Amino acid sequence: MAGFGILFFVNPEASAFMPRCPFNWLTGLDCPACGTQRALHHLFHLQFREAFAYNPFLIISFPYLFALVLCQWFNDGGRFDALKRVCHHHVVVNVYLVLLVAWWILRNVL
Ligand SMILES: [Zn+2]
Repeated sequence: MAGFGILFFVNPEASAFMPRCPFNWLTGLDCPACGTQRALHHLFHLQFREAFAYNPFLIISFPYLFALVLCQWFNDGGRFDALKRVCHHHVVVNVYLVLLVAWWILRNVL
């Protein structure tokens, strides 16, 4: 949560203190998560277009990621067990992983 607070107040584009992606630093290529800090900063300021421009896969993934958080951290009493079965279903997980790898490749070749 502290990280989210920092991302609200500190613009990663203007700060030399925000950590750089180690994969990008080593290879010069973008990883699937590159742009996440900048996207979240703009998202916290309700600048959806800018957030989408930095990492569209992250923005598109939010419903799934939000559902995973609900299933893992807020499933007291099993109230999200049905959602957990869907989110953890092998077809859903494999489709997400294929899309993630496709996004990783496409963002580096386009
Ligand atoms: Zn990266």
